[in-house]
Amino acid sequence: MQDIKLNRAVFLDRDGTIAPDVHYCRRPEDFELFPNVPETIRLFNNHGFKVVVVTNQSGIARGYFTEEILDCIHQKMEGYLVESEAHIDAIYYCPHHPDDGCECRKPRTALFHKAGETLGIDFSRSYVIGDSQIDIGAGKALGCKTVLVTTGPSKGKDIIDLPDYEAKSFEEAARWVIENMKRKCDMKQISVVIPALNERDGIEKTVRAIPKFELENMGYTVQVLVVDNNSNDGTGELARNAGAEVVHEPARGYGSAFQAGFANAAGDVIVTADADATYPLEDIPRLVKILEDENLDFVTTNRFGLMVDGAMSFRNKVGNAVLSTTMAILFQINVKDSQSGMWIFKRDLLKKLVLTSNTPLSQEIKIEAFHFAKCRWKEVPIKYKPRAGKVKLGGWKVGFGNLLHLFKKRFVR
Ligand SMILES: [Mg+2]
Repeated sequence: MQDIKLNRAVFLDRDGTIAPDVHYCRRPEDFELFPNVPETIRLFNNHGFKVVVVTNQSGIARGYFTEEILDCIHQKMEGYLVESEAHIDAIYYCPHHPDDGCECRKPRTALFHKAGETLGIDFSRSYVIGDSQIDIGAGKALGCKTVLVTTGPSKGKDIIDLPDYEAKSFEEAARWVIENMKRKCDMKQISVVIPALNERDGIEKTVRAIPKFELENMGYTVQVLVVDNNSNDGTGELARNAGAEVVHEPARGYGSAFQAGFANAAGDVIVTADADATYPLEDIPRLVKILEDENLDFVTTNRFGLMVDGAMSFRNKVGNAVLSTTMAILFQINVKDSQSGMWIFKRDLLKKLVLTSNTPLSQEIKIEAFHFAKCRWKEVPIKYKPRAGKVKLGGWKVGFGNLLHLFKKRFVR
């Protein structure tokens, strides 16, 4: 028993919350977890939460199964977690019938208090996640924050007490809990900003490729922000369905879209990428780590180092070389890829940058950050992949426009 209650916990209901609600699940072979539950519990483990399952199992009092069977079911559950290097700190169950009038059946709180004493839990810093009124009711009575998941049989329709958040899945509930906790503790956030104009072929793949779990394990919360640049092919809707926050920017253009994205980015660190699945989003953790470890303000990427065959036309490669060389001569910035659109930078840097261009924004942000703001930066090679959907940017007109912009920028800032 611990005297000082300092730990934060997440109390999880079992049936309908982390596992499909099998009516009085009475055999281990009928028990499964919802997808991504082990990884999500690992997130809680890694963020310092005690993870406690509290579940009503009146099937025991009703004679449907024994406590030994229930133990077997819970061993199976814990086995799944071990495979993903996740763990639950304690499982508490109420074996009684609703008519028994016990103190431990949810929404009553005896089991939570027992866990609280054993694990030293501070309820005011803790969360309850469940699929029904009894979970939310217990959480409210304890002074915890509550999250309702609509994955149970009632789909969340039996609720009297308003939860602090309603989620469509356990994973979404967990993200909210972790973000809410971090907001209170003032932790770091990353915003991934993706401009998108008619990118229905690549947008979902792009959003889903962002390695949220890995970034969260590095101590970041992740905001995915897609700027819908007036698409008419449903790009915004697809992005939202894939889990992104969508900002609408009617003024078309790369610069307008990024300006709208930057204005809505809440992160301390901003990461940019295109919506056509060309940039290696799986590299974000590695690039963020370089930014952190080398105490940089800006990491820009070089697509030529590790480019996949067919990812860029010969004409675009030549054009890029001309633009990068011209930029090096005019601004003494030695980058191999002045047109790369994948950047990782500290948001505070934006205050020092004068960004006025539209199509040439990729080169302008580098000139502003490296030449004028004299920030600490580095160019890092990445693996660039062929694009999903038709090629849009990169004709002669764009090339000459960008070249002209370099000269203009040299004389007028
Ligand atoms: Mg339930």
